[in-house]
Formats: sequence, structure tokens, C-alpha cells
Amino acid sequence: MSLNQIWMQRDLAVLWHPCTQMKDHEQLPLIPIRRGDGVWLEDFDGKRYLDAVSSWWVNVFGHANPRINARIREQLDSLEHVMLAGFSHQPVIELSERLVALTPPGLERVFYTDNGSTGIEVALKMSYHYWRNAGQTDKKRFVTLTNSYHGETVAAMSVGDVALFTDTYKPLLLDTFKVPSPDCYLRAEGVSWEDHSRAMFAHMEQTLAEHHAEIAAVIVEPLIQGAGGMRMYHPVYLQLLREACDRYEVHLIHDEIAVGFGRTGTMFACEQAGITPDFLCLSKALTGGYLPMAAVLTTDRVYQAFYDDYETLRAFLHSHTYTGNPLACAAALATLDIFAEDNVIEANKVLAARMASATAHLAGHPHVAEVRQTGMALAIEMVQNKASRTPYPWQERRGLKVYQHALERGALLRPLGSVVYFLPPYCITEQQIDFLAEVAEQGIELATRERVSVAVPGDRYPGFRDPG
Ligand SMILES: *Cc1c(COP(=O)(O)O)cnc(C)c1O
Repeated sequence: MSLNQIWMQRDLAVLWHPCTQMKDHEQLPLIPIRRGDGVWLEDFDGKRYLDAVSSWWVNVFGHANPRINARIREQLDSLEHVMLAGFSHQPVIELSERLVALTPPGLERVFYTDNGSTGIEVALKMSYHYWRNAGQTDKKRFVTLTNSYHGETVAAMSVGDVALFTDTYKPLLLDTFKVPSPDCYLRAEGVSWEDHSRAMFAHMEQTLAEHHAEIAAVIVEPLIQGAGGMRMYHPVYLQLLREACDRYEVHLIHDEIAVGFGRTGTMFACEQAGITPDFLCLSKALTGGYLPMAAVLTTDRVYQAFYDDYETLRAFLHSHTYTGNPLACAAALATLDIFAEDNVIEANKVLAARMASATAHLAGHPHVAEVRQTGMALAIEMVQNKASRTPYPWQERRGLKVYQHALERGALLRPLGSVVYFLPPYCITEQQIDFLAEVAEQGIELATRERVSVAVPGDRYPGFRDPG
């Protein structure tokens, strides 16, 4: 037995993996990773994989980055953790100062949680609680876009709309308003992204006009609906939304958990619309992909609505045990240093252009409906019929074939259903991008060559994190 097989056996005897039908592992080998180095992951048999999806969108400066490692080690020698109620520490103060300075004007307070989903819970609770403190107890519902994803905890699922994750739990969920997404994949032929996104805003305007008295907040993934298949839209939608939220007295929550820290081509997606949301949720790349942490930034106006004598019971009495963990803050500080010192946002433009040029020809493939890109995220949508854009039935798991092919070639390319995408660490080279494009092209060729074996009903969108 190889070392990989030994570790796989031990794993499968005791672990239950996230977002996995464990029975799949009867056929699909699990890959135990021994070490990481830059864009590479290495398994126990010495095989290397180029991490094209940044290990679920978190890693921006490579695995085992010497600069981030050093900062965490240094922190480890002085303070590993202290509770954040009644106590504080240097890394969390410095990080908060830097996040306030780095994000759009008006975001002046930072609240921390342990992961993206709980960051969303905080934004939803704070928004509802703000209106309650302001005497507006009717404002308790949330508006969300179709095909959106905001995490896995129950309230975060409630504001999401990827059926694979939420259908089962429907009886548990909050009742939200769902507004059709500005997703530009669905635009009519010849219509620009901008015109389509602008036109789709009419649905949002109508929902807000009719129901604003009972709406606390609108929550969106700015510019890219990640888990919903890397669907993209134009910043004009965010401008219109900010203006309407002000007009109707509704909060705007930006979930930049996936798109923050340079993914869309700017440090934060909201910069492209020139707006400031009332709540900005950050996680994933916040710590460079090292440690779990999320930050929710909000305005002084929101903060002041909770600031009062204890007896008024207006305080936000929400906590997570590991709030503001110093090691995670140290990783985040090192990550922000690299962004500044290496002028990363500017340097990424060259890489984004290479991602475009290396994949442009795939748009002509008979089973590719679209190659789309926003900054450092590029997606290739495979379809059964190019002219009608008929999707492959999700049960055929075409994306899984691309995944398996890529593993053989030494790349971690984990499609979302039939959407093959690159979301690489920013330390990738142009040559490595060319390699990924070549692997993706071969994978798509293999995955789409096979004829449909069974006619299967069902149009539910396949899911985030599902290699199928
Ligand atoms: C990943 C993600 C989340 C959830 O973050 P977790 O840390 O996995 O809980 C929420 N929103 C978006 C847009 C995400 O991509």
C-alpha cells in the first residue's frame, strides 16, 4: 500500500468530510496532503497539484508563505489567545485600524467572528437589532438575490438560494424576499452587461417599493455570485441598489467573503461601484488562507444605535469564543503587508490578462456557452447544447470528470457543477496559468465528448464545493 492509501484508509475510518457524499470515496480517492509550497500541494506519494481554486478561495499568497509563517511564529511566542470581552491585544487593534483605513469611507467599526457564515449571522442580527433599537420593530425581513450563497448556518442559508444546500432545510429557514439576480449569463444576445444589470434592477426596486416597511436589509454578493456558479454582473447594479436602500431606509449588506481582497480586480468589489455598504462582511482571504476568521465592518450610525446605558438593554450581546484570535490577526496583518509591499492589485492585472488570453479560444468550443471573467476569477460554463444553452443534467456530473482529469495532470481544478473556473493564488505565474488552461481544455474535451447515457429529469443547480 502506498502512503497515500494508508492515510486515506485511516481517514475514512474516522472522518466525515464537508460537502461530501462519503460513499463517493468508494471510487474517488481521497487525497491526503503532506505539505504545501506556494501554489503547490504535495500528497504523501510525492505527487504535486497546482491549487487553481486557492483551497476553497482562501489562499492568496501561496501555501507555507515565509512572510506569513514568520509573523504567526512571532505572535505564537507572545500570546496565542485571550478572550476579547473585557480584554484586548495589539494584533486585533492594529488589524481593526488597518481594515477601517483600507475599506471605503464610512465603515468605522469592526466586529469579529470565526468564519464567513457567522459573519453573515452577525450582519443580519445587527441590522434587525438596529431597527428594533430605533423603534422600527416591523423591519425584520431580508431581501436576497436568486442564485445567491451566504453560508451554511441556518440564517445564512435562509438568505441563500442554491437549491442543493437549502432545499432540504426549507422548513427551518427564515422567510425572505427573493429577487431575480442581475446574472449576466442570462442576458439576451447583444445586450451589454451594464444594460442587463440595470434592467434587472427593476425587480429590486419593485420589492423595495412594496415592502420596505418590513425590510431590514438587502444582502448581496457584489459582482460575482460564487457558489452559484461564478455568475457575474455589472457594478451599476450596486450603485442603483445603494441609492434605493438609502431612499427606502433599508440596510445594504455586502458579502465580500469570497470577493474581497483583490478577487474582482480591486481590493474590494464595492470600490468598483464607488459605494459604501452599511455592513461589509470579510473572511476567506482575510488571513491569507491561514486561519478561520471573519470581520463585519459597519458605520458609526449603526454603532451608535447600540451605545447606551447597560440597563437599556440595547447592546449587541453576541459572541464567539475565539473572537479576534491573535494568531489569526497576525496572519491577516502579514497578508495586508504583502498586499501593500508588493503592489499586488496592480501586479494582478498582468495575471488577469493572461487568464483571459489563455482561455479565450475555449469560447468557440461546441460545449462551452461562455467564458467570463471579473478580475482574478475566470469561469468556463459547459453546456449540453451551445445554441439553446441547455445545461447538462446535474446527475451526469460532467464537472467531476474535469476534476479527475485535472488531478491526473497535477492540478486542483474543482468545478461548480458544469462550471470550470480558475480562482488561483496571486503568486501564480503566467506559465502556470497556461498550464491550467491546457488542463482545463483537455478536461472539458473529455467531459463533453461522452454521449448522454441516461435521460434524467431535474434542473436543480449543482452545488458549491461539489465536484459534480
Ligand atoms: C464561503 C462563503 C461564505 C461562508 O463562509 P464560511 O467561512 O464557509 O462559513 C459566505 N458567503 C460567501 C459569498 C462565501 O463564498
